[in-house]
Amino acid sequence: MHIKENLSELKKQFKKQDCLLIAVSKTKPVSDIQEAYDAGIRHFGENKVQELTEKQPQLPDDIRWHMIGHLQRNKVKYIAPFIHLIHGVDSFKLLKEINKQAQKADRVIACLLQVHIAKEESKFGFSEEEIMDLIKLPEFAALEHVRVIGLMGMATNTDKEAVIRAEFAALKKFMNHLNTLDLPGGMALKELSMGMSGDYQIAQEEGSTMVRIGSAIFGQRNYL
Ligand SMILES: *Cc1c(COP(=O)(O)O)cnc(C)c1O
Repeated sequence: MHIKENLSELKKQFKKQDCLLIAVSKTKPVSDIQEAYDAGIRHFGENKVQELTEKQPQLPDDIRWHMIGHLQRNKVKYIAPFIHLIHGVDSFKLLKEINKQAQKADRVIACLLQVHIAKEESKFGFSEEEIMDLIKLPEFAALEHVRVIGLMGMATNTDKEAVIRAEFAALKKFMNHLNTLDLPGGMALKELSMGMSGDYQIAQEEGSTMVRIGSAIFGQRNYL
Protein backbone atom coordinates (compact mmCIF):
# COMPACT_ATOMS: atom_id res chain seq x y z
CA MET A 1 0.00 0.00 0.00
CA HIS A 2 1.37 3.40 -0.98
CA ILE A 3 -1.42 5.70 0.13
CA LYS A 4 0.78 8.60 1.13
CA GLU A 5 2.78 8.43 -2.12
CA ASN A 6 -0.40 8.10 -4.18
CA LEU A 7 -1.82 11.20 -2.51
CA SER A 8 1.19 13.38 -3.19
CA GLU A 9 1.38 12.13 -6.79
CA LEU A 10 -2.32 12.81 -7.24
CA LYS A 11 -2.09 16.36 -5.93
CA LYS A 12 0.70 17.04 -8.42
CA GLN A 13 -1.64 15.97 -11.22
CA PHE A 14 -4.43 18.31 -10.16
CA LYS A 15 -5.39 20.89 -12.75
CA LYS A 16 -6.94 23.07 -10.08
CA GLN A 17 -5.23 23.18 -6.69
CA ASP A 18 -8.21 24.60 -4.79
CA CYS A 19 -10.47 21.71 -5.82
CA LEU A 20 -11.50 19.72 -2.73
CA LEU A 21 -10.22 16.15 -2.66
CA ILE A 22 -12.70 13.66 -1.23
CA ALA A 23 -10.96 10.35 -0.63
CA VAL A 24 -13.41 7.58 -1.50
CA SER A 25 -12.71 4.84 1.02
CA LYS A 26 -15.56 2.42 0.26
CA THR A 27 -14.59 -1.24 0.77
CA LYS A 28 -11.26 -0.15 2.30
CA PRO A 29 -10.31 -0.84 5.94
CA VAL A 30 -10.18 1.75 8.69
CA SER A 31 -6.38 1.43 8.71
CA ASP A 32 -6.22 2.74 5.13
CA ILE A 33 -8.40 5.71 6.06
CA GLN A 34 -6.18 6.43 9.06
CA GLU A 35 -3.16 6.40 6.77
CA ALA A 36 -4.75 8.96 4.43
CA TYR A 37 -5.80 10.99 7.48
CA ASP A 38 -2.23 10.99 8.75
CA ALA A 39 -1.18 12.30 5.33
CA GLY A 40 -3.52 15.26 5.88
CA ILE A 41 -6.80 14.20 4.25
CA ARG A 42 -9.93 15.23 6.19
CA HIS A 43 -12.74 14.58 3.68
CA PHE A 44 -13.77 10.99 3.04
CA GLY A 45 -16.55 9.53 0.92
CA GLU A 46 -18.51 6.32 1.37
CA ASN A 47 -21.40 4.93 -0.64
CA LYS A 48 -23.05 2.57 1.84
CA VAL A 49 -24.74 3.67 5.03
CA GLN A 50 -23.89 0.56 7.00
CA GLU A 51 -20.22 0.72 6.11
CA LEU A 52 -20.11 4.43 6.89
CA THR A 53 -21.76 4.08 10.30
CA GLU A 54 -19.38 1.24 11.19
CA LYS A 55 -16.25 3.19 10.26
CA GLN A 56 -17.19 6.65 11.53
CA PRO A 57 -16.91 5.96 15.30
CA GLN A 58 -13.52 4.26 14.86
CA LEU A 59 -11.89 7.28 13.27
CA PRO A 60 -11.00 10.84 14.32
CA ASP A 61 -13.86 13.23 15.04
CA ASP A 62 -12.70 15.93 12.68
CA ILE A 63 -13.21 13.82 9.57
CA ARG A 64 -15.86 15.23 7.29
CA TRP A 65 -17.90 12.36 5.90
CA HIS A 66 -19.51 12.54 2.47
CA MET A 67 -22.31 10.22 1.38
CA ILE A 68 -21.59 9.77 -2.31
CA GLY A 69 -23.76 6.82 -3.28
CA HIS A 70 -27.42 6.20 -3.75
CA LEU A 71 -29.14 6.84 -0.43
CA GLN A 72 -32.27 4.99 0.60
CA ARG A 73 -34.80 7.04 2.51
CA ASN A 74 -35.10 4.59 5.39
CA LYS A 75 -31.38 4.90 6.09
CA VAL A 76 -31.08 8.68 6.28
CA LYS A 77 -31.67 8.62 10.03
CA TYR A 78 -28.43 6.73 10.66
CA ILE A 79 -26.19 9.37 9.07
CA ALA A 80 -28.15 12.55 9.79
CA PRO A 81 -26.36 13.25 13.11
CA PHE A 82 -22.91 13.54 11.54
CA ILE A 83 -22.91 13.60 7.73
CA HIS A 84 -21.09 16.58 6.20
CA LEU A 85 -22.49 16.52 2.66
CA ILE A 86 -24.92 14.26 0.81
CA HIS A 87 -23.96 14.16 -2.89
CA GLY A 88 -26.56 11.90 -4.44
CA VAL A 89 -29.91 13.52 -3.74
CA ASP A 90 -32.05 12.27 -6.60
CA SER A 91 -35.66 12.72 -5.52
CA PHE A 92 -37.82 15.21 -3.69
CA LYS A 93 -38.96 12.44 -1.34
CA LEU A 94 -35.38 11.84 -0.31
CA LEU A 95 -34.77 15.55 0.22
CA LYS A 96 -37.85 15.73 2.47
CA GLU A 97 -36.63 12.78 4.52
CA ILE A 98 -33.19 14.39 4.91
CA ASN A 99 -34.93 17.56 6.08
CA LYS A 100 -36.97 15.60 8.62
CA GLN A 101 -33.98 13.73 10.04
CA ALA A 102 -31.83 16.87 10.07
CA GLN A 103 -34.51 18.61 12.11
CA LYS A 104 -34.51 15.74 14.61
CA ALA A 105 -30.73 16.01 14.87
CA ASP A 106 -31.03 19.80 15.21
CA ARG A 107 -28.89 20.32 12.11
CA VAL A 108 -28.98 21.80 8.63
CA ILE A 109 -27.57 19.23 6.21
CA ALA A 110 -25.80 20.33 3.05
CA CYS A 111 -26.88 18.48 -0.09
CA LEU A 112 -26.09 18.28 -3.77
CA LEU A 113 -28.70 17.42 -6.37
CA GLN A 114 -27.52 14.59 -8.59
CA VAL A 115 -28.07 15.27 -12.26
CA HIS A 116 -28.13 12.49 -14.81
CA ILE A 117 -25.55 13.69 -17.35
CA ALA A 118 -24.22 10.41 -18.79
CA LYS A 119 -25.39 8.80 -21.99
CA GLU A 120 -25.73 5.53 -20.09
CA GLU A 121 -28.99 4.34 -18.67
CA SER A 122 -29.13 4.93 -14.95
CA LYS A 123 -31.88 4.83 -12.41
CA PHE A 124 -30.32 7.67 -10.46
CA GLY A 125 -30.27 11.40 -10.86
CA PHE A 126 -32.67 14.14 -11.86
CA SER A 127 -33.03 15.41 -15.40
CA GLU A 128 -32.56 19.16 -15.85
CA GLU A 129 -36.32 19.50 -16.39
CA GLU A 130 -37.05 17.75 -13.10
CA ILE A 131 -34.79 20.17 -11.24
CA MET A 132 -36.49 23.12 -12.93
CA ASP A 133 -39.82 21.78 -11.64
CA LEU A 134 -38.43 21.01 -8.18
CA ILE A 135 -37.13 24.50 -7.47
CA LYS A 136 -40.56 25.97 -8.25
CA LEU A 137 -42.34 23.91 -5.61
CA PRO A 138 -43.42 25.91 -2.54
CA GLU A 139 -42.75 22.73 -0.56
CA PHE A 140 -39.12 22.81 -1.70
CA ALA A 141 -38.67 26.38 -0.52
CA ALA A 142 -40.14 25.40 2.86
CA LEU A 143 -37.41 22.87 3.71
CA GLU A 144 -35.45 24.59 6.45
CA HIS A 145 -33.09 21.82 7.50
CA VAL A 146 -31.46 21.12 4.16
CA ARG A 147 -29.23 23.47 2.22
CA VAL A 148 -28.77 22.68 -1.45
CA ILE A 149 -25.31 24.00 -2.25
CA GLY A 150 -24.64 22.56 -5.70
CA LEU A 151 -24.86 19.71 -8.18
CA MET A 152 -23.25 16.30 -8.63
CA GLY A 153 -22.83 14.33 -11.82
CA MET A 154 -21.09 11.28 -13.18
CA ALA A 155 -19.88 11.21 -16.77
CA THR A 156 -20.29 8.28 -19.13
CA ASN A 157 -17.79 5.50 -18.50
CA THR A 158 -15.90 5.84 -21.77
CA ASP A 159 -12.39 6.60 -22.98
CA LYS A 160 -13.74 9.25 -25.36
CA GLU A 161 -12.50 12.40 -23.69
CA ALA A 162 -14.73 14.67 -25.77
CA VAL A 163 -17.85 12.90 -24.49
CA ILE A 164 -16.79 13.22 -20.85
CA ARG A 165 -15.77 16.85 -21.29
CA ALA A 166 -19.07 17.78 -22.93
CA GLU A 167 -21.06 16.15 -20.11
CA PHE A 168 -19.12 17.98 -17.38
CA ALA A 169 -19.37 21.27 -19.30
CA ALA A 170 -23.13 20.81 -19.61
CA LEU A 171 -23.46 20.34 -15.85
CA LYS A 172 -21.47 23.50 -15.16
CA LYS A 173 -23.58 25.40 -17.69
CA PHE A 174 -26.78 24.15 -16.06
CA MET A 175 -25.60 25.28 -12.61
CA ASN A 176 -24.76 28.72 -14.03
CA HIS A 177 -28.23 28.86 -15.53
CA LEU A 178 -29.89 27.94 -12.24
CA ASN A 179 -27.97 30.71 -10.52
CA THR A 180 -29.46 33.27 -12.90
CA LEU A 181 -32.96 32.33 -11.69
CA ASP A 182 -34.73 33.60 -8.64
CA LEU A 183 -33.96 30.61 -6.44
CA PRO A 184 -35.92 30.03 -3.22
CA GLY A 185 -34.58 31.42 0.01
CA GLY A 186 -31.57 33.09 -1.60
CA MET A 187 -30.21 29.67 -2.51
CA ALA A 188 -26.92 29.93 -4.41
CA LEU A 189 -25.28 26.93 -6.03
CA LYS A 190 -21.51 26.93 -5.69
CA GLU A 191 -20.33 23.36 -5.55
CA LEU A 192 -19.88 21.00 -8.49
CA SER A 193 -19.03 17.45 -7.44
CA MET A 194 -17.64 15.90 -10.59
CA GLY A 195 -14.63 13.79 -11.37
CA MET A 196 -13.31 10.41 -10.20
CA SER A 197 -9.95 8.62 -10.61
CA GLY A 198 -10.32 8.29 -14.38
CA ASP A 199 -11.66 11.71 -15.28
CA TYR A 200 -10.88 14.20 -12.52
CA GLN A 201 -8.49 16.32 -14.62
CA ILE A 202 -11.14 16.87 -17.28
CA ALA A 203 -13.69 17.61 -14.55
CA GLN A 204 -11.37 20.19 -12.98
CA GLU A 205 -10.82 21.86 -16.33
CA GLU A 206 -14.59 22.07 -16.71
CA GLY A 207 -15.19 23.69 -13.33
CA SER A 208 -15.35 20.94 -10.72
CA THR A 209 -15.01 22.20 -7.13
CA MET A 210 -14.77 18.74 -5.54
CA VAL A 211 -13.51 15.43 -6.89
CA ARG A 212 -14.36 11.99 -5.49
CA ILE A 213 -11.30 9.80 -5.84
CA GLY A 214 -10.93 6.21 -4.68
CA SER A 215 -8.74 3.82 -6.61
CA ALA A 216 -6.03 6.37 -7.47
CA ILE A 217 -5.45 6.73 -3.71
CA PHE A 218 -6.27 3.36 -2.18
CA GLY A 219 -5.70 1.04 -5.14
CA GLN A 220 -8.22 -1.17 -6.87
CA ARG A 221 -11.23 -2.36 -4.92
CA ASN A 222 -11.90 -6.07 -4.57
CA TYR A 223 -15.61 -6.69 -4.59
CA LEU A 224 -16.54 -10.04 -3.19
C1 LIG B 1 -16.65 4.67 -6.09
C2 LIG B 1 -17.07 6.03 -6.45
C3 LIG B 1 -16.13 7.03 -6.77
C4 LIG B 1 -14.63 6.78 -6.82
O1 LIG B 1 -14.30 6.00 -7.93
P1 LIG B 1 -12.78 5.75 -8.36
O2 LIG B 1 -12.87 5.44 -9.80
O3 LIG B 1 -12.27 4.63 -7.54
O4 LIG B 1 -12.03 7.02 -8.11
C5 LIG B 1 -16.61 8.29 -7.04
N1 LIG B 1 -17.93 8.57 -7.01
C6 LIG B 1 -18.85 7.66 -6.71
C7 LIG B 1 -20.28 8.05 -6.69
C8 LIG B 1 -18.46 6.36 -6.43
O5 LIG B 1 -19.39 5.44 -6.14
